[in-house]
Amino acid sequence: MTQRRTSIPIRIGRVTVGGNAPVVVQSMTKTDTRDILATINQIQELEECGCEIVRVAVPDKEAVEAIPAIKREASLPLIADIHFDYRLALAALQAGIDGLRINPGNIRDREQTAKIVAAAREKEIPIRIGVNAGSLPVNFEPDAPLAERMVNMALEQTRFMENLNFNLIKVSLKAFDVPTTVQAYQMIADKIPYPLHLGITEAGLPRAGAIRSAIGLGILLYQGIGDTIRVSLSAHPCEEVFVAYEILKTLGLRQRGATLVSCPSCGRAEVDIVALAEAVDKHLQKITNPIKVAVMGCVVNGPGEATDADVGIACGKGKGAIFRKGKVVSTVKEENFLEALKTEIDSLSLDWRGLARW
Ligand code: SF4
Repeated sequence: MTQRRTSIPIRIGRVTVGGNAPVVVQSMTKTDTRDILATINQIQELEECGCEIVRVAVPDKEAVEAIPAIKREASLPLIADIHFDYRLALAALQAGIDGLRINPGNIRDREQTAKIVAAAREKEIPIRIGVNAGSLPVNFEPDAPLAERMVNMALEQTRFMENLNFNLIKVSLKAFDVPTTVQAYQMIADKIPYPLHLGITEAGLPRAGAIRSAIGLGILLYQGIGDTIRVSLSAHPCEEVFVAYEILKTLGLRQRGATLVSCPSCGRAEVDIVALAEAVDKHLQKITNPIKVAVMGCVVNGPGEATDADVGIACGKGKGAIFRKGKVVSTVKEENFLEALKTEIDSLSLDWRGLARW
């Protein structure tokens, strides 16, 4: 894996993004921001599932007016997502927001942008320059390739802010097309010193969207590019957070929650391994400690994988061996596989102390 790109850290509320900080997981509420109670509830759900920064849509004055009440109850740093109307950004800053996302494709007026920058500078609030392929002005470098247009739009806005003596900047370059997105981030990575927010926009429903996001974000993160990620799915935002952590866990960049190693099953399996793995996976949803659990269908790879895991089962005909930290701790009958494994998982999770690696 390539060494992480160097970036100037910024603070979104209490969370550091960039520099040596861990890659931050963020999401966005899907409630109507004007519905204060629903938005606070969803932010609390997001915090419980591991989200570290949350963005809220601020489409009008009423949504801005909801910000102070949401801020009072929500413990996650809050970013206001602003399009079209610069006055909403100014009002969100007044309302105590921790960060702004503005889309340079949707606020083109330089004087308006300068007003936002001046107010953000005064309050020391970072701004994400959030370029989106779908909202590039049609007359902006129309003959250039899409990735280049996105990069140039971000660079133009970055330089404009720098000329206003503002550098609390974060940049994103999102498209639905994964190669375009990857190319855009690769192009900008050594052109600016600011943290990069990664995402594949409008990635779709969870099944396909998780794959698109994992490929796009995975390539970039493996190359050391990216300081914060948001997975965009047509699903509850906690699904986004789950996928984000799976991507980071897969690359060894963050540890949160259990990891399930399960064999795909085949003609050699002596038990219904898919059903067992699903039941174990359901049980693991409540585990926040970074433990590795193996569910293996037979003796071919079973003992090897189960030995490598913190806790595991290698199933055989009518009975299976439960492993813990490489040692067989018990042999159980088939009807007790699930309960025996759950007991070991819970016991290990309770024992787990201070092993978290960021
Ligand atoms: Fe098949 Fe056994 Fe491998 Fe599972 S561990 S896929 S049952 S050979």
